Amino acid sequence: MSTVAAYAAPAPKAPLERTTIERREVGPHDVLIDIRFAGICHSDIHQVNEGWGEAIFPMVPGHEIAGVVVAAGSEVTRHAVGDRVGVGCMVDSCRECEFCLRGLEQYCANGNTMTYNGVDRNGDVTYGGYSKQIVVDENYVVRIPDALPLDVAAPLLCAGITVYSPLRHWGVAPGKKVAVVGLGGLGHMGVKIAAALGAEVTVLSQSLRKKDDGLKLGAHDYRSTGDPATFTELAGEFDVVLSTVSAPLDFGAYLGLLKTDGAIVNVGAPEEPISLNLFALLGGRKTLAGSMIGGIAETQEMLDFCAEHGLGAEIELIDADQINTAYDRVQSSDVRYRFVIDATTI
Ligand code: NAP
Ligand code: ZN
Ligand code: ZN
Repeated sequence: MSTVAAYAAPAPKAPLERTTIERREVGPHDVLIDIRFAGICHSDIHQVNEGWGEAIFPMVPGHEIAGVVVAAGSEVTRHAVGDRVGVGCMVDSCRECEFCLRGLEQYCANGNTMTYNGVDRNGDVTYGGYSKQIVVDENYVVRIPDALPLDVAAPLLCAGITVYSPLRHWGVAPGKKVAVVGLGGLGHMGVKIAAALGAEVTVLSQSLRKKDDGLKLGAHDYRSTGDPATFTELAGEFDVVLSTVSAPLDFGAYLGLLKTDGAIVNVGAPEEPISLNLFALLGGRKTLAGSMIGGIAETQEMLDFCAEHGLGAEIELIDADQINTAYDRVQSSDVRYRFVIDATTI
């Protein structure tokens, strides 16, 4: 066991404070990672607030981890001391079920182990990336290509893969029209990746405040959802609408933006349910779907894709004592476009 510094929420909704946690011994299949940067995902805030249901406290959030391997177990083959690596939302899964065998560990039939707010196969509570070091099984650790600086790579481990996986699954490619709803952490990576995949991208944001940024990120058009004309002018326009919104949304209105056979893919995880008039799905044979992060191999594929296309996150680098201020800003949609903690300040 080793004791490492971390930032934790001691109780639901409580401000995060500096503390120490124990990390397990480096086992034969484990690597010890010196965390350099950790992104702040809106999911961290939902969980600290117990917005998704009962959670485990104290909680050390953080599932967008970028760092360097400083020790490797005797059986480790995938990574070596000195390698630049990342850890996302999962640190284990059953490795035997149909979905694990297909590289869809995020949908493990026996439940995967979340990087934090989870319990691992030894019965220990997991603690996330707002800390100086972490011990992870090598199979749940990915390689960060040299072309990607670690600070802008960290958010790719959740925000990047969460948008890459559905964009690929729903066939986003040249000739397709895609709308990205919400220009936050996930949304801005959705714009970059959909544009790099060759699609024509429109941002649908609450206002036009970030329009210049959206166009620079690769969007071809940028509309305000506060303006009712957006929903009439863009009716029937899109093959795919990717919603990254953290709050309940009127999906009935957004279904009107789809072409026949189009799909809304929702990755947002709001704390309250929505209501929907199902007639919005019937005409036009429309789909309302969801997607959760991505598998380990696909996460590596996404990092390689981002490196090849020069895509990192747009970040605001903060010291650890600014985490609570960053949480307030994310909750008021004041994020451009991901807060990343400099782990040396923990
Ligand atoms: P974020 O940075 O806060 O971005 C969310 C964006 O949604 C905001 O920037 C804002 O964009 C828009 N928005 C916020 N409140 C809104 C409201 N009331 N009405 C309309 N639009 C609103 O959050 P994030 O980190 O990207 O995460 C987004 C959501 O995805 C969260 O619920 C998170 O838990 C979830 N998530 C899911 C997965 C998954 O695997 N499915 C993975 C990661 C995160 P504008 O200002 O442009 O309107
Ligand atoms: Zn996340
Ligand atoms: Zn499994």
